[in-house]
Amino acid sequence: MSDCIFCKIDQGEIPAEKVFEDEGLFVIKDVNPQAPTHLLIIPKRHIPTLLELEEQDRSVMSRVHEVAGKLACDGGFDQSGFRVVVNCGAGAGQSVFHIHFHLLAGRAMQWPPG
Ligand code: AMP
Repeated sequence: MSDCIFCKIDQGEIPAEKVFEDEGLFVIKDVNPQAPTHLLIIPKRHIPTLLELEEQDRSVMSRVHEVAGKLACDGGFDQSGFRVVVNCGAGAGQSVFHIHFHLLAGRAMQWPPG
């Protein structure tokens, strides 16, 4: 989508620190990190929110979680704990309307989240 910041990053039109990519998704460092490790796992297809997921997205949704685990092992925070978060809608704090999964690690996490 032409005015979507994550689509532009995927197309190389806006710079970002990509740490992983495959055919269906890419991973960047969050520009405003909320934890020592704060990555965004972003499916390439422009899906605005969790509510617009379709059957065709099943494999990438599974892959998101597989990649989260791989990044945790590679980053050495698999044992200390990490959090995967998706915000759905402005009321939940979503500010970029292209689905993405926050991967947070490196500090103690609070529950419930604010
Ligand atoms: P959310 O508020 O759940 O929609 O999360 C959007 C996230 O994208 C926020 O944590 C932002 O800091 C992050 N973000 C926005 N623009 C960029 C960018 N150009 N590069 C990396 N992260 C970004």
